[in-house]
Amino acid sequence: MRQIALLGATGSIGTSCLDVVRAHPDRLRLQAVSAHRDWKKLAEICHEFQPEIAILSEESIRSEVDESSFPAGTQVQYGAEALEQTAGGSDNDTVVAAIVGAAGLISSLAAARAGKRIALANKETLVVAGGLIMQAAAESGCELIPVDSEHSAIFQALQSGRANEVRKIILTSSGGPFRGKTAAEIENAGPDLALKHPTWSMGPKITIDSATMMNKALEIIEARWLFNLQADQIGVVVHPQSIVHSLVEFMDGSQIAQLSPPDMRLPIQYALSYPERWEAVTESCDYQKPLRLDFFPPDLETFPALGLGFEVARRGGTTGAVLNAANEIAVSRYLRREISFYDMTGVCRELLEKHTYHPAPSLEELTALDQWARKETNLWQP
Ligand code: NDP
Ligand code: MG
Repeated sequence: MRQIALLGATGSIGTSCLDVVRAHPDRLRLQAVSAHRDWKKLAEICHEFQPEIAILSEESIRSEVDESSFPAGTQVQYGAEALEQTAGGSDNDTVVAAIVGAAGLISSLAAARAGKRIALANKETLVVAGGLIMQAAAESGCELIPVDSEHSAIFQALQSGRANEVRKIILTSSGGPFRGKTAAEIENAGPDLALKHPTWSMGPKITIDSATMMNKALEIIEARWLFNLQADQIGVVVHPQSIVHSLVEFMDGSQIAQLSPPDMRLPIQYALSYPERWEAVTESCDYQKPLRLDFFPPDLETFPALGLGFEVARRGGTTGAVLNAANEIAVSRYLRREISFYDMTGVCRELLEKHTYHPAPSLEELTALDQWARKETNLWQP
């Protein structure tokens, strides 16, 4: 029985993970759950799954919370420190990292240091501090299994050969809601259009990241760390149907892919069941109906975020923390209609150029740069 801490239980990945736990009550148990502010939804989750601990990471909402709405057997805790303690503590063996943004970093690092299984959805953790996380995981024996669908596909395809036989990997991208559009057509697009993703239903931050293709940029950096690759071993192909989730090319030229309809419950389940495979909670591809798969090269001019992804994967060091923090704030400002579509990538590029680069930063240095980039992006004017 896996004892799971599901951090970010109220979000899109959290909700899909609850479905997986529901389908496998004999194998999976929720020991702890967290939300940031949504205590009502968290209380409902606790009534169904009866975890020992429920964490609300936004300390300041303590006075609003009606603790009697939680079941008697669940202890309610508050603040980011409670997240860190549960992620690093010995009452669970598996952490599902489903918090959005760099806010997930400290708990992921605690789980990595404690040698747990981490089912990692929170890609920002690796973008900000991939070097530190991978080192902590290697030292503790932590199993870091990707949940991001592309990285889950690569993790699965890599099992067809040896590490030294890999030539490159190819990340697929749906292209987002603006695939095939020109820069002139999307420069004035507001959040209402950018939030309409054609194939995936996800939280708002990653949905905007998909529209700029910053999501793919973050995934290039995530892949660089997870699979210990050079930036030039990572390619991107646009695949509108989101059926082929990514590919690995081996030195003999064979490409191995993983295919399934777009549904995050499959990669979440695999990250929990690995090295086993369990009965499906999702549909598989059905070839009794016509199924068309298209592939196009990405448009690096219309989606300049992609170039930033390759640059950060190449330079490493402090660049990931700056890119991520600038992007998080840029997305929230875009959602509030304070800046335009291309400003999001523009401010990220500007701060990458402006910051003081360091090739091997400490956690403290990364945290300070994260704060600096957030402040600069909040003050930034087009
Ligand atoms: P959501 O916005 O749907 O959910 C975010 C979760 O994190 C919620 O539980 C939220 O709590 C909590 N949260 C928000 N801010 C904080 C904070 N500052 N500190 C602690 N917890 C916080 O996001 P998604 O589920 O879409 O994405 C989660 C992660 O998974 C992201 O890193 C994303 O890139 C990645 N991912 C998501 C995919 C998807 O299909 N959604 C696919 C691949 C990767 P509350 O509800 O209280 O606000
Ligand atoms: Mg993805």
